[in-house]
Amino acid sequence: MKKELEIEIMERYSIINEKNKREIVLLRGQGCSWRRCRFCDYHLDFSRDKEENITLNQKELSKITGIHQKLEVINSGSFTELPEETMDLIETICIEKKIKEVHFEAHYNQRKFIPALRQRFSKNNISVIIKIGVETFDYLFRESYLVKGIQTDNPSEIATYFDECCLLQGIPGQTKDSMIQDIEIGLTYFNRVCINIMQENGMAIKPDPSVIELFVKEIYPLYKENQRVDILLENTAFGVGGVTTNV
Ligand code: SF4
Repeated sequence: MKKELEIEIMERYSIINEKNKREIVLLRGQGCSWRRCRFCDYHLDFSRDKEENITLNQKELSKITGIHQKLEVINSGSFTELPEETMDLIETICIEKKIKEVHFEAHYNQRKFIPALRQRFSKNNISVIIKIGVETFDYLFRESYLVKGIQTDNPSEIATYFDECCLLQGIPGQTKDSMIQDIEIGLTYFNRVCINIMQENGMAIKPDPSVIELFVKEIYPLYKENQRVDILLENTAFGVGGVTTNV
């Protein structure tokens, strides 16, 4: 298996003008604190060089205009792994550009840091929305096969901390019913659901073309107009990201 970093091709800033209009920026931090998900090569987008991360993040954050008054910050892990200088800059830019809502991502193991983040931004009347990659609500599948590291089988417990969830679909073992069940649970407990269709990379878990076909034919039409559901048929559909490892 050939593994090759292709970080340089990553796009890091985009404007989404369709559902849930917003600017989105892919920043870089010290790396995901979990790193064990068996499908993920996304965590390879990190650097231990804090100064380089700060510089790269400054460059991308300078592109923000505030056009939709909404900003999504993603960073191949959790917001807690971004340099404090970057967090300060995000806060300053949100104030300057009159952004009213800022979205961050976090792994379940970082949940205790979320209340302070909400409080920090709320001082300037900026709402913080936190997204978690749950991938599926099937606990056994998630923890024994995907190795996601979420130690609860209770969606409402996850939703105590997190506002939005991501699901991973198109992987072996999933059925029409299991995928719909995950989406419906997501919509019951969370404000929004983001469905990522598995894209092949150099990691152990591969997409299943027959499951993807099933999704496209039978599930995509059910949810494509749903304003609370984002569907990424490719992982660059939001205009950021790229290939991290090749097969
Ligand atoms: S999916 Fe998220 S939590 Fe899991 S290893 Fe990748 S970056 Fe870390």
